[in-house]
Amino acid sequence: MKLTEMSAEELASFKAEVQKKYDDFKAQGLSLNMARGKPSAEQLDLTEGLLTAVKSSEDCFAEDGTDCRNYGGLDGLPEAKALFAPMLGVTPDELIICGNSSLNIMYDTIAKFVLFGTGDGEKPWKDTKVKWLCPVPGYDRHFLITEKMGFELVNIPMDKNGPDMDMVEKLVAEDDTIKGIWCVPMYANPTGTTYSDEVVKRLAAMKTKAKDFKIFWDNAYCIHHLSDTPDKLLNILDECEKAGNPDRVYMLASTSKVTFPGAGVAMIASSEKNIKYLKSMMTVQTIGYDKINQLRHVKFFGTYENLMEHMKKHRAIIEPKFKIVLDTLEKEIAPLGIGSWEKPNGGYFISFNALNGCAKRICQLCKEAGVVLTGAGATYPYGKDPDDSNIRIAPTFPPENELKIAADVFATAVKLASVEKLLA
Ligand code: PLP
Repeated sequence: MKLTEMSAEELASFKAEVQKKYDDFKAQGLSLNMARGKPSAEQLDLTEGLLTAVKSSEDCFAEDGTDCRNYGGLDGLPEAKALFAPMLGVTPDELIICGNSSLNIMYDTIAKFVLFGTGDGEKPWKDTKVKWLCPVPGYDRHFLITEKMGFELVNIPMDKNGPDMDMVEKLVAEDDTIKGIWCVPMYANPTGTTYSDEVVKRLAAMKTKAKDFKIFWDNAYCIHHLSDTPDKLLNILDECEKAGNPDRVYMLASTSKVTFPGAGVAMIASSEKNIKYLKSMMTVQTIGYDKINQLRHVKFFGTYENLMEHMKKHRAIIEPKFKIVLDTLEKEIAPLGIGSWEKPNGGYFISFNALNGCAKRICQLCKEAGVVLTGAGATYPYGKDPDDSNIRIAPTFPPENELKIAADVFATAVKLASVEKLLA
């Protein structure tokens, strides 16, 4: 029976039952974590061989004879570019292989635009009003970058096709202080949404009042499939080119969740013109990135096909974990009508929408029972979820036995917070 259809007495007896279950969990002194989207130790072990892929000085030479122990090669080894270019669907000239973090490239690129401009002949963004579009719910660290730069963040609701494009098109057409948008176009963090072809085309073609409007296309999960029928994403760089806006988009990706987070390889892709511009500024800040790590990745994977096979091993480990959480939600929450979620086809998260006004309370109840979740509100700019409803669940890190308990605690907390709300 749906909780919203229960009488006051039925709710009171439901609450007493759930409270007891919750108190039992609390008494167990649990210490579990479903907060951050991290690979588990078992996933990290898949890449054991990367640690020894470059064993000696003789292994340190690139195909063209470059000694990777030495300076040089700002935009990455040709063989690293060849390996990773298909991931983003670009040519080597449209790609720079950087250091260990795509988030770092995003911060850095936006900081460059603030200090020096985008290279489109417009003024740098410093000392001017800048607004930034933020599809919500979204990735907290994206929002933080643009918040710390002093931009005003504008919420754009997500639906099953991506950001609300009617709203995006209207805003960017009218307001030249809107300089960009964050997008996680495939298996989005946290909703799992993959942008439809129509959304991609509209983003590429829309008229923007700002001549220096940029799309940050963070394709962090482009090869993280959880299904035999993976989602398909249109290549936005091609669409921008076709629509006459060739320099609109910067694409990003990394191997953080493919090999080792923090010790992988990150990359940025864009039009050749933009890549030249970025390189002209990068050359001032570094002589080159870690080519030995690029070489390790090249030697470990060999081909893009092997990289794809490697991703199947990740899937085999994490798919059962998604199932544990989804099954618990289906069994415990769906019949009560006190939450909604989608089964993602890939990525790292399940996005849970509680009854309005319940998310903070659910996170608090989980915390007091020893289960850490990403803080309620984190999926919104400034940490403010206007409905206090969205919670990001990250099932990949805990071992399955722990995850089962954590999912049960979560379901119990959802029930308790919801019944409290309905009785209030
Ligand atoms: N982009 C998205 C959408 C993410 O979810 C994450 C990590 O969770 C990152 C980027 C971080 O990437 P990196 O490790 O390459 O900095």
